Amino acid sequence: MSGKLIIISAPSGAGKTTIIKEVMQSGLDLEFSVSACSRSKRSDEVDGKDYYFLSVNDFKKKIKNGEFLEWEEVYKDHFYGTLRSELQRIWNKGKHVLIEADVYGGIYIRRQFGENALSLFIMPPSIKHLEERLVNRSTDKIESIKTRVTKAKEEISLADKFDKVIVNDKLDKAINESINTITEFLKK
Ligand code: 5GP
Repeated sequence: MSGKLIIISAPSGAGKTTIIKEVMQSGLDLEFSVSACSRSKRSDEVDGKDYYFLSVNDFKKKIKNGEFLEWEEVYKDHFYGTLRSELQRIWNKGKHVLIEADVYGGIYIRRQFGENALSLFIMPPSIKHLEERLVNRSTDKIESIKTRVTKAKEEISLADKFDKVIVNDKLDKAINESINTITEFLKK
């Protein structure tokens, strides 16, 4: 079977992870699609839960074998992608899929799935705010923060390609808006 697909994209540090966590706990019939990636694991992350952590070589092998629905080299040597097998695994359970992807991946997947997909863009209230969040999170080195901020500016310029833009100026409001939008879409 093939069910529906929700795609959530946002610049790094926009609060996407928290929003996704709340959406997943809201009782909707959704399962999170675990992406594969080739960056190293952060201390609070679990392999197979947050990501399938692969070496760059293993990631490239899977690209060659056509195992990805989509993939992106989001940062140099940091590949991220959605495995076809992951979507099928979730749809086979009769659930809808929630995918987290970078902005380009999000736009691409939305196009592939047409009306069966809903894409949400989580917008940070400002670039300054986003920079502060990344510094406070202290999971990334200064150089990496600069790269993420540059990329964020580029990503924000593509927000209008999404079905719905959710401004994360107040977390509770952004969470409710996300849950309501997804609930309405799944009812259709
Ligand atoms: P992070 O390293 O902060 O976990 O993620 C970096 C970026 O990779 C984020 O923009 C995130 O949305 C993106 N990302 C995570 N999974 C995927 C995926 O499966 N495909 C694509 N294209 N991007 C992804």
